[in-house]
Amino acid sequence: MTDAADRFTLVVHGGSGIITRRSLSPSLEAQYRAVLAAALAAGHHVLADGGSAMDAVVAAITVMEDDPLYNAGKGAAYTAEGLHELDAAVMCGASGQAGAVAGVKTVRNPIVAARGVMERTRHVLLVGEGAESFAAEMGLAPVEPAYFHTDHRWDQLQKARVAQRVLLDHDGAPRAEPAAAPWKADDKFGTVGAVALDRHGHLAAGTSTGGLTNKPRGRVGDSPIIGAGTWAEDATCAVSGTGTGEYFMRGVLAFDVAARMRYAGATLADAAAQTVQAVLTGRGGRGGLIGIDARGEVVMAFNTEGMYRGVVRADGVAQTAVFLA
Ligand code: ASP
Repeated sequence: MTDAADRFTLVVHGGSGIITRRSLSPSLEAQYRAVLAAALAAGHHVLADGGSAMDAVVAAITVMEDDPLYNAGKGAAYTAEGLHELDAAVMCGASGQAGAVAGVKTVRNPIVAARGVMERTRHVLLVGEGAESFAAEMGLAPVEPAYFHTDHRWDQLQKARVAQRVLLDHDGAPRAEPAAAPWKADDKFGTVGAVALDRHGHLAAGTSTGGLTNKPRGRVGDSPIIGAGTWAEDATCAVSGTGTGEYFMRGVLAFDVAARMRYAGATLADAAAQTVQAVLTGRGGRGGLIGIDARGEVVMAFNTEGMYRGVVRADGVAQTAVFLA
């Protein structure tokens, strides 16, 4: 058995934002953590069996997409029109291949469709009805919009409409914000993501989201944009982000972490800290990211009050966390 075989690791996130002990009851915290633990268990099972990092990432994210608590798949945030438009992406660190879907309304597990784009097409990103048709051709049975509904997200949309603003999905009470900075005061994000190192020394990343509550029709965030919200390459790291997507896109944030490692020789921890500080915080964005490198080093960095997150290594002991401290 090689060293790498003992280092297989999975990291997940379930979004960042104003997540404090005051805003989250102990019983709800326990529910969020239970889903993280279930996602980690699903991915760990794959990795322990010798499965690929990509298999583990998709297994973990599927669990979170299927759970109504998180803003991906069932329980996704509502658009301004009262609909759901889902985005997801995967990237394989070994091959450099990537796949993504954006703005899909009928795909139960967008992460599976994203993987399909990577593996079955010559393309990287399919959007809207084209992506939905592709998913159906893959054999993914379409779901009705009602499938994604939760009362919680619907209430968030009503609050956002009253406040005339766009909310991140773990938002608490809406706050006033300057009209010129429509994304800036958003205070919660519920995107889900996973990064993994498998027994074979390969990395993968995936991210899935309903985007921002009250987002305009057709708005696509960073999650399905390769390099912005999702990135993986074996030589550096795998990264999945959550936060104000516009800042992640403008800063090509996930790739920025890898670039600091590749070109400046930074460690994963230093690269992630620099990226969050300089590219996210420095430009006024909010959120966080998870990352892993080929040695099994992991990072969970964020500039918000909390980030749903967890890690499991070869020993199978899952650790989850929510708050800053
Ligand atoms: N990054 C996502 C987006 O902008 C939102 C989130 O992380 O919750 O679509």
